[in-house]
Amino acid sequence: MKTKTVLITGGSGFIGSYLCELLLARGYRIICLDNLITGSLSNIAPLFKNHGFKFIKHDISKTIGIKDKIYYVLHFASPASPVDYLKFPIQTLKVGSLGTHNALGIAKAKRAKFFLASTSEIYGDPLVHPQKENYWGNVNTIGPRGVYDEAKRFSEAITMAYHRAHGIDTKIVRIFNTYGPRMRKEDGRAIPNFISQALKNKPITVYGRGGQTRSFCYVTDLVDGIYRLMMSPLNEPVNLGNPKEMTILQLAKEIIRLTGSKSRIVYEMLPQDDPKTRQPDITKAKKFLKWQAKVGLEEGLIETIGYFRLNKVEKAS
Ligand code: UDP
Repeated sequence: MKTKTVLITGGSGFIGSYLCELLLARGYRIICLDNLITGSLSNIAPLFKNHGFKFIKHDISKTIGIKDKIYYVLHFASPASPVDYLKFPIQTLKVGSLGTHNALGIAKAKRAKFFLASTSEIYGDPLVHPQKENYWGNVNTIGPRGVYDEAKRFSEAITMAYHRAHGIDTKIVRIFNTYGPRMRKEDGRAIPNFISQALKNKPITVYGRGGQTRSFCYVTDLVDGIYRLMMSPLNEPVNLGNPKEMTILQLAKEIIRLTGSKSRIVYEMLPQDDPKTRQPDITKAKKFLKWQAKVGLEEGLIETIGYFRLNKVEKAS
């Protein structure tokens, strides 16, 4: 059988790099595109020795000609943490809109399948709890998070349009909060912030009173679900995430406990439009993909804390 090639945009990002690894291990050739504004070459450094792996530094918001035959296009490029998309608002809007259009164009030209990384952010500050795929969401279009939420909502719309108008076999995953090694310490999300702060015994910055909830999924669980969805016949969006919900204050306390830190908790201003609750309803993933998260929060956090400790040691030496 000839080796199939998968094109991954955002392949050197946090989730993208795990996908590159998983697909290489399953015998696919990989073309990884990334403009490296939030991705990092260190995430994919071990993959360069693999002959089946090619990296192209490119911004998918601009068109690109690809000579190779492509079996699957996976569109994962986008700033994805609130701090990042506030820092790169225009790039975030462009990669979700123009970037998705370009990635779909490649899939169409190559008669490839297409996979979109969407997000729980499309539900905005949800009025339905937990969130099922048939909920349409509650998004402030002109708020600071609108740049990400609306870009991803558009990317879902154009993906379904290409599916309906051009008959492309498209898939959409709505990714809920995911964590694990390779998250950037400075990416601003709760888990990397809290772990970095805890390891330095600095104050843990809980925004608001910390009563807002999230549900955290370990990255290897997520990519397992992504692979199952890639190989499934489903074209409608599917939620992937760990339904175990907790408050941000509980998360902060858990990280203090697991790091053995002397940090105290300080309360800072809640960012505008910060969702008050978030929990995936994964009935669909369970039923059609036979998928559910396996890694518990304690186990996943211990791995992640280990990575952050090691990174600190490497940086210091
Ligand atoms: N958060 C916090 N302190 C931080 C970073 C984040 O309290 O230092 C809160 C944030 O306000 C949100 C939750 O943690 O309610 C999750 O934020 P994150 O940026 O990880 O992702 P989000 O789910 O908002 O996209």
